[in-house]
Amino acid sequence: MRLFDVYMHGILCLVLLLGCGDSGGNHRTPDAPSVSDQDTLAGDTATGSDTPRQSPRAISTTVLVDSLAVNLNGGVGDVLFDAPDDTLSLTIIVHGTANGWYGIDSWIDPTGIALITPDWVTEAGNERGCFSCPVFTTQGAGASTTINPNRPESVVNPGTHTLQVVGFEGGFATDMAWVTVLAKRGDAWPVQGTVDLHFYFTGAQDWTASTAPDDSYFDAVIARFNALYSAIGIQVGEMTFRDIDPELRTVSIDPANDTLGALVANSQASLGDGAHIFFVEEILTGDPEYPSIPGVAAAVPNPPFLTGTIASGVVISTKGPLSVPPERRFLDPPAIGQTLCHEMGHLLGLFHTSEYDEVSHDQFADTPENDNTYLMHADGTGPKISDQQARALLANPLVMHDE
Ligand SMILES: [Zn+2]
Repeated sequence: MRLFDVYMHGILCLVLLLGCGDSGGNHRTPDAPSVSDQDTLAGDTATGSDTPRQSPRAISTTVLVDSLAVNLNGGVGDVLFDAPDDTLSLTIIVHGTANGWYGIDSWIDPTGIALITPDWVTEAGNERGCFSCPVFTTQGAGASTTINPNRPESVVNPGTHTLQVVGFEGGFATDMAWVTVLAKRGDAWPVQGTVDLHFYFTGAQDWTASTAPDDSYFDAVIARFNALYSAIGIQVGEMTFRDIDPELRTVSIDPANDTLGALVANSQASLGDGAHIFFVEEILTGDPEYPSIPGVAAAVPNPPFLTGTIASGVVISTKGPLSVPPERRFLDPPAIGQTLCHEMGHLLGLFHTSEYDEVSHDQFADTPENDNTYLMHADGTGPKISDQQARALLANPLVMHDE
């Protein structure tokens, strides 16, 4: 909602990473330091693994490259990886320190197609991301995630892919970045899926890990998600509930006092492979005109399976809009379920179809401009998801597919 939640927080990048508290919740496995316990890789060249991440399914996700440390020279480094024949989508995560900015400078596919064109950042029109690339990409603080396909021009070919990744810190080139590559694999493109949701409670709305599962309003929030996303075949899968420090119940994206990254860094790998959603009382902006917003995504998309970073979650306010004069409210607080739907769109990879400036739009050809009947309009109040948006959502490894 508002333009803040997509673009501003990247600039605001904050550095304090909180330790991972252990205050309850459902543990499925011990905490893992990286996205997977598979494939320890050495060097800057990686080959594919045949080990499925999930139990055997018609469509599953394989970790092709697992947090590979890449030496950067002048802030740039190369990574090669092999995509299996049955690859449906590829997710590239370039990650590092909370102080760093990361991204992809070029991506050449096995047939020679430049999925991301070298030096795209210097081209006019690409200020908010690579609108001229077959695969849309952005750079981001702490971690940047690119999912192919994410526009009609995107293609996914098997074979050896070549990436050039970049890292900066404080305007200077960094020496190191870490790269993770995930492949969603199967015989046919998915038409439906589920996404697991991991909820974190600060006490806002009087919700806690023990009360929320039986709360009728919370049930309505989940029902809203299922109703809206059923249009594209996506439903809520497993849910976990966890309490975190009540001191975190107010979060700020004000550049002078940014606490968003510190909040979502509480995301826990041990909870499973899902989306990490934090409920707070209020999200402050520092902007006197719109001092409080309903929701914010720490990164678009969030890095799938990578927790504990400043990019690993979305935040939903239970009270925020009440502090804004009625004439300036664009979403009333009872619509927490709608906010969840909108922020989940960001988390899974969707940018605003149109910003409030009415000149900034997303990379999809089939999302009408300045039409707030669409879920991902900056208003966040509409229900519609386009076919191209749906394809991008189903490409995300967090959307899992049962047989
Ligand atoms: Zn938004």
